[in-house]
This record gives sequence, C-alpha cells and structure tokens, in this order.
Amino acid sequence: MTEVKSGKCAVVIVAAGSGQRLGHGVPKARVPLGGEPMLAHTVRGVVKAGIADQICIAIPAGDDELAEICRQLSTSSGAPAGVLWNVVDGGEDRAGSVQAALAVIAGDVTTVLIHDAARPLTPSGVFDRITSALRDGATAVIPALAVVDTIKEVVPAELPGTGAGLEKVSGTPARSRLRAVQTPQGFDVELLRRAHRYAETLQPAEAAQITDDAMLVEALGEDVYVVQGSTHSLKITSPTDLLLAEAMLQGPLRPRWVEG
Ligand code: C5P
Repeated sequence: MTEVKSGKCAVVIVAAGSGQRLGHGVPKARVPLGGEPMLAHTVRGVVKAGIADQICIAIPAGDDELAEICRQLSTSSGAPAGVLWNVVDGGEDRAGSVQAALAVIAGDVTTVLIHDAARPLTPSGVFDRITSALRDGATAVIPALAVVDTIKEVVPAELPGTGAGLEKVSGTPARSRLRAVQTPQGFDVELLRRAHRYAETLQPAEAAQITDDAMLVEALGEDVYVVQGSTHSLKITSPTDLLLAEAMLQGPLRPRWVEG
C-alpha cells in the first residue's frame, strides 16, 4: 500500500432488509432505537464521520414511510449542503441493493463505502481507518474483530440411535486466524463495480451465499485489507442486540464501553 489516492467518497447505506428476525413487523431501518428509527442513528454516524461527498440509501421498494424519514434526514442529519443525497429502491437481496445504489454513484466518485443500516452505532474511528487505508492505496478494506468463540464447521447428520436430524462437526478452523467482519467496507469504485458485475453472473443458490461485498472482491482474486473494527459496531439482528444497543445509548453505561 504505497500509492496515496484522493478523490470523492460515496457512502452507500443498505437499509432495504425486512428485519424479520427482530420481530417488530416493520423493516429493520424503521425499528425504534433510542426513540428514533434505527436509520437515523446510522445516517448521523455517517455524517459525523465527515468523509462522505455523496450519501445513497437503499430502502425497501414502496416504503413511503422510510422514504419520508430519509427526506427529513437529508436536512436534519447535519450533512453539509454540498453532500449529494440519493434514496433508491433496494433489491431482492443485499447485493441487489448495493447494485441499485451503484447505479446512481456520481461520476467523480473514486471510493465507495458500503455500510449496513443495521449497524447504527459504528464510531467515526472505523470510517477513518477504512478511508485512510483507501487513501494509502488499498482498493478493498474491511473492519473486523478477532473472534472470541471457537467456530466449528458443521454438516447435516442423524443421531445413530434415533435417526434424529442434527448436525455434526466437520472441522475447527484455528481461532487465531478468524475474524468477525463488519461494515463499512471500503472499495475503489471501479473494483466494486467489477465485483458486482461478477455477482450478476452467479446462479441464485450461489448468490444467496454472498453476505458481504468483500466476498465478491475476493472471488476476483484481489487483495482485501483488514483494519480494526469496533464492538460498538454490532449488527442489530435479534431482540437481544436491540437491548444492547439501547443500553449503549444510555449515558450511565457509556463509560463502561471500551472501544475495541
Ligand atoms: O439481513 P442482512 O444481515 O444481510 O442485512 C444486512 C444489511 O443489508 C441490513 O442493513 C439490511 O437492511 C441490508 N439489506 C438490504 N437489502 C436487502 C437485504 C438486506 O439493503 N434486500
């Protein structure tokens, strides 16, 4: 990473997921956190990081309520007047939502960060680490944390006695080499476009295995660099995550959270 790059930066916020696992009955981006839609926290976090020349939010097609929330955030989030602001209809899957956003990225943008709306508390430091590595010449950068649990690979299996369907362990990767990956993930815009053109050639079953953008870049054989993520950057998926995020927003708990 010797080349130092400059140019405009776009941040894509993918907010088109259904959020069924949270059980609120509304798209996850609209689920209340600290008395506001989750998306409001995510957007303000992006604005606060001060790295975006363009912000593009992918929302569920036809979600007028979320479109209105985005419209209000375009003025209330504190984004400087020069920041280009777009809201697009998301796709069937996460990759489809990223592709819809890529279609409206301005021609003078050189780097793009893809960020999950479901990570509303990502600190500015994570955005800084990503953009700094991109400026230093990386074309793909992701934030990650060392894993604390031992991770097993499993295959479907039947219990010998009863034939009950379970799983059994097929392998244990060395924990020291594993990382739990978060967003924002940062890319050279042309590399990301190429990665998503490749995604469009995949069969539906293969496409369903694509859980982040870096996987597509890896498939092209390009280097993906890793910077330190943050425990604050948790992805809100289950009701327990939501409880944790609510607690993290409370003043008295704040000092107990150590960035890591
Ligand atoms: O459900 P999953 O963990 O893949 O969601 C990660 C992020 O991708 C969420 O912020 C969600 O809103 C977004 N997403 C999307 N379009 C989809 C599916 C997920 O923007 N069709």
